[in-house]
Amino acid sequence: MKKILQDLNYFELENLILSLGEKKFRAKQLYEGLMRGKKISQINVSPLLRENLLKEYEDEPVKIIKTLTSSDGTEKYLFGLADGNIIEGVLMKYKYGNTQCVSTQVGCRMGCKFCASTLSGLVRNLTSGEILSQVLVVNALHKEGARGVTNVVLMGSGEPLDNYNNTVSFLKNVSAEGGINISPRNISLSTCGIVPKIYALADEGLPVNLTISLHQTTDEGRARTMPIAKKYSIDEILKACAYYFEKTGRRYIFEYSLIEGENCDKQHAEELIKLLKGKPCHVNLIRLNEVKERTLKSTTDKQAYVFLGLLEKGGLSATVRRSAGADIGGACGQLRANYLDNENRE
Ligand code: SAH
Repeated sequence: MKKILQDLNYFELENLILSLGEKKFRAKQLYEGLMRGKKISQINVSPLLRENLLKEYEDEPVKIIKTLTSSDGTEKYLFGLADGNIIEGVLMKYKYGNTQCVSTQVGCRMGCKFCASTLSGLVRNLTSGEILSQVLVVNALHKEGARGVTNVVLMGSGEPLDNYNNTVSFLKNVSAEGGINISPRNISLSTCGIVPKIYALADEGLPVNLTISLHQTTDEGRARTMPIAKKYSIDEILKACAYYFEKTGRRYIFEYSLIEGENCDKQHAEELIKLLKGKPCHVNLIRLNEVKERTLKSTTDKQAYVFLGLLEKGGLSATVRRSAGADIGGACGQLRANYLDNENRE
């Protein structure tokens, strides 16, 4: 695979251009083109510069190979990478803007029992430019006429804090002024709870919203579905979150996917209240997306709202997440899994 030009920030791009013997203003032209989601070959610079760049850099590091559109406007994409790997993404449309869910790795090695992204392990990390390019190509699709991407969530395949350096470069580049300029406040990073990296992120000076996949109220319970729980305890996660709040002033969010018979009885609500009451946090209840390779079952909507009521009565700030794009299926890594399945059968 060639190198990825979108990995570079403006300053690095300028240095590259100067090293190729070109004038500085070419960097600006190039950068503007890249931020509009263009391929190198489509950008209006001299033919010689294009040719030189294309010798070393991928023309189109991320391309949309399939789009599914839901009746509620949600769009799901299969992206092809330059080395033939496949990742997926989603764009959800809300009154306040368009939220894109991006992937940070091809596959994942965290092994959570409910998740389709980790079924065949980690293939490789994405570079920062591959993460950024997902946003650039989707934004380019939407900015004509309508609104482009206004919010980003790192909730596609992969564990962002397991690909720490590339994820942080991505966060810096996607929020850079003069670029696509999505504010860190409009970005949410979701992690299964890699504690040392939460501290590191708090010290980066990037006030993104921190989201923790909690899904359980005890370490033993959590370890049943999330192997990472054997490494870091809930107590350590809560301490890291407190540090994150202290450093960034941002309230943090816990994701809690409701699994029948596993984590949504009255007892769990009480334990969750005890853990989180008085903390500057919010609980996002998610109805489990049933994955065909897994046996875990979702709760009913009614149970979800009963559980929500218990949390609210106990003084927690909580919501049940609206599920978008239900009619086009393929949430949480299932789109890619289905695609790979079909490829293998052909
Ligand atoms: N690796 C990151 C991002 C994962 S995806 C993390 O663990 O947070 C974003 C969220 O979806 C996580 O909370 C994850 O636990 C949850 N999730 C994964 N598979 C799911 C499924 N089948 N149903 C509901 N939520 C799921």
